[in-house]
Amino acid sequence: MSEIRIFGVIGAGQMGQGIAQVAAQTGMDVRLLDAKLELAEKGKAAIGKQLGKLVEKGKLAKDDADATLARLVPVADYARLAECDIVVEAATENVELKKKIFAMADEAMKPGAILASNTSSISLTKLAAVTKRPEQVVGMHFMNPVPLMKLVELIRALQTSDETFAATKALAERMGKTVVVSKDMPGFIVNRMLIPFLNEACFVLQEGIGTPEDIDNGAKLGLNHPLGPLALADLIGLDTCLFIAEVLHRDLGDDKYRAAPILKQYVDAGWLGRKTGRGFYKYDAK
Ligand code: NAD
Repeated sequence: MSEIRIFGVIGAGQMGQGIAQVAAQTGMDVRLLDAKLELAEKGKAAIGKQLGKLVEKGKLAKDDADATLARLVPVADYARLAECDIVVEAATENVELKKKIFAMADEAMKPGAILASNTSSISLTKLAAVTKRPEQVVGMHFMNPVPLMKLVELIRALQTSDETFAATKALAERMGKTVVVSKDMPGFIVNRMLIPFLNEACFVLQEGIGTPEDIDNGAKLGLNHPLGPLALADLIGLDTCLFIAEVLHRDLGDDKYRAAPILKQYVDAGWLGRKTGRGFYKYDAK
């Protein structure tokens, strides 16, 4: 496979922004696609803010920040993915939506280009099956926040070719990441461990065993976690956490993975965490 130079990202939310930023900082040209052009443009503006913060802190030269931002092109038309050597899908965690996006991206992309998903829990084997390039489909699961977190979990679909896997691994390393490899099983490695932990913290809260602050301090000071489970769930997005919990429950068929009712209730209320200003904690709009 020739060198990956043009990198597409579908979904300009928190993960898509982080992935697009790191890809552009690695020197690749980036096409950032969302359902509407305004959303892709908003994503680019947010990346501009993040780069501005790095400049203020003296961690990035102004010229480099400007050049990075210039490599990022917001788009809304799938035809603009035709020139990409790889596209990483980072849209909302919903299987039907991702299947639709995969089919559209597959149609638009050139033969041989890699179609990856940043999904937290959805089967790559299922997503590969809706495309005409199943051998070029792979899971590329970045961690949040992408510019800071070192790990990329790579997931091989049943159909993924060795060549696709090797090229994706090399790309993740070029982006400064360390790779772990997971089989295509619900939750992969990281979320199979993390989501039951976050969900249990929700049960602890629901049963009135402790306040959110005490639950989080218990994990921070007692388990040496940098962030407590409820604050981390707010950062990930409670809708995303719930979706993953439901995938683990359904696909592993074990009631120990059932989502805490309080998590469902917060999602019903639209309290999705940081991204909506309220989850287990309240956040300033700034
Ligand atoms: P988010 O809600 O911040 O962003 C989702 C984006 O997808 C939005 O900008 C939305 O407009 C866009 N979108 C929706 N429908 C679309 C469509 N038809 N075409 C193009 N774009 C569309 O969510 P996020 O937290 O960035 O999560 C995105 C993906 O990354 C999910 O699969 C999630 O499981 C995964 N992920 C999330 C985290 C996390 O901590 N939040 C970590 C790792 C992986």
